[in-house]
Amino acid sequence: MALIVQKFGGSSVADAARVRNVAGIITDTYKKGNNVVVVVSAQGDTTDDLIEKAREISANPSKREMDMLLTSGEQISISLLAMAIAELGYPVISLLGWQAGFNTNSSYGSARIREIKTERLEKELDQKKIVIVAGFQGLNKYDDLTTLGRGGSDTSAVALAAALHADRCQIFTDVTGVFTADPRKVENTQKLADITYDEMLEFATLGAQVLNNRSVEMAKKYNVELEVLSSLVREPGTIVREVAKMEKMLIRGVTKDSDIARISVVGMKDIPGNAFKMFSRLAQKNINIDVILQSVGRDGTKDISFTCAAGYADEAVEILNDIFAMEGAVVSSDTSVAKVSIVGAGMQSHSGTASKMFGALYEAGINIGMISTSEITISVLIDKESADKAVSAVHKAFFG
Ligand code: ASP
Ligand code: MG
Repeated sequence: MALIVQKFGGSSVADAARVRNVAGIITDTYKKGNNVVVVVSAQGDTTDDLIEKAREISANPSKREMDMLLTSGEQISISLLAMAIAELGYPVISLLGWQAGFNTNSSYGSARIREIKTERLEKELDQKKIVIVAGFQGLNKYDDLTTLGRGGSDTSAVALAAALHADRCQIFTDVTGVFTADPRKVENTQKLADITYDEMLEFATLGAQVLNNRSVEMAKKYNVELEVLSSLVREPGTIVREVAKMEKMLIRGVTKDSDIARISVVGMKDIPGNAFKMFSRLAQKNINIDVILQSVGRDGTKDISFTCAAGYADEAVEILNDIFAMEGAVVSSDTSVAKVSIVGAGMQSHSGTASKMFGALYEAGINIGMISTSEITISVLIDKESADKAVSAVHKAFFG
């Protein structure tokens, strides 16, 4: 007998038929003699709809009241799912986050889980009940409801699996696993049998919206093995774990991020401390910097460019103008760029990966703006309009 945590995203429980389908998956697992704890998100676009409702009332609602509102979405889905399971004749109980013992810090809208008090959960499991838990929410020290940030139900599920020492954590979604590239846009993609936490984190950060980043970080920290699989197509998914068992694949996939901006400071004084000044001021404002490029100094000046999320571009330009406009430097931002990356732990020990990628881009007639590498990624900055073409070309070079 195993303890299995299953998480179902909003699209998996979007309507009555989907809720019944999910009830079938859960009870099939239970029938095999497993203890089952289930985490669900709000149905379909419920969370977006609730945010929209708030906007109709207030341009700037308090974060506490937003969490009071948003936690209601999951209350609907857990109760409906429990009813569907009861209809099938199985013992079941639904619990809100606080009833399931989720204690968080007080950051409304982006709360962190402090602790899960598992007594209630264990009591229900001892009584052989299927336990349905509301994802994305908890309670802070003021006894106020909190939410974990958008997409937070994945994190709820991983945290529960860690706290209960579950044997497996299955994340059900509307895709059948993690692919070598977005299967809706690229031909001949392959589903990966497994992938490491670090590779998955790169995929998540680089814009492949399969799992929420924080949930992968948490799974790595507590060594929770995850399976990403479909709630609609019953076939094995992709396993996320510390060491991928698959035969060594050089790279695991190609992703793109189009939601970025390139910020350039041209003609700053070539003196020690300028880069420090620049990036520390940006860090103070929590602006995350990605690819950085500094030119060789000439005539006493130098240029620095970097990328950040498009949403921070204006703020970054303002901050940098504050520092450098006086010394005659010109600050500009450009949101017509995209980042295309290849990801794979196997490339560490392999030369020729970068040249293969650059060759594919060259043959597709795509110009590379900036390049950055890490142990398991190579990223290039290119024109946004060429992003899909670039992903396809690079994917073809590596996967045929
Ligand atoms: N319902 C929440 C959201 O849409 C949490 C989740 O889906 O994981 O962000
Ligand atoms: Mg959702």
